[in-house]
Amino acid sequence: MHHVQDCIFCKIINKEIPSEFLKEDDELVVFKDIHPLAPVHLLIVPRKHIRSINDLLEEDRAVVSGMIMTAKDMAKQFSVDKSGYRLFFNVEKGGGQEIFHLHLHLIGGWE
Ligand code: 5GP
Ligand code: ZN
Repeated sequence: MHHVQDCIFCKIINKEIPSEFLKEDDELVVFKDIHPLAPVHLLIVPRKHIRSINDLLEEDRAVVSGMIMTAKDMAKQFSVDKSGYRLFFNVEKGGGQEIFHLHLHLIGGWE
């Protein structure tokens, strides 16, 4: 329904590209970043194709809050909650965004 052709994250979500989901529900999936910037680097990705934070609609509120609550849960699952971690969105090219399907980065696990 929201599948956008040639979007790599849509292909991952639709299992056209094999990928291990660390968590999935009706709204989102979580998988490891292919080029990790830290010992733990997860991507929290809504199933709905949304280009970036700029493109969020009022109706997406539940998806966004679900992404953040999921980040909290994944931090605990990967045992970085106490040591600490970073959550970030890159927004558009100047903000470092390379994949134009909304995703929240979770990085942590440094010594
Ligand atoms: P952005 O710069 O758009 O915020 O982040 C995109 C992230 O997606 C990058 O950290 C990049 O390493 C990751 N990535 C790109 N292609 C793939 C892929 O095919 N599989 C996975 N698991 N991660 C990817
Ligand atoms: Zn997409």
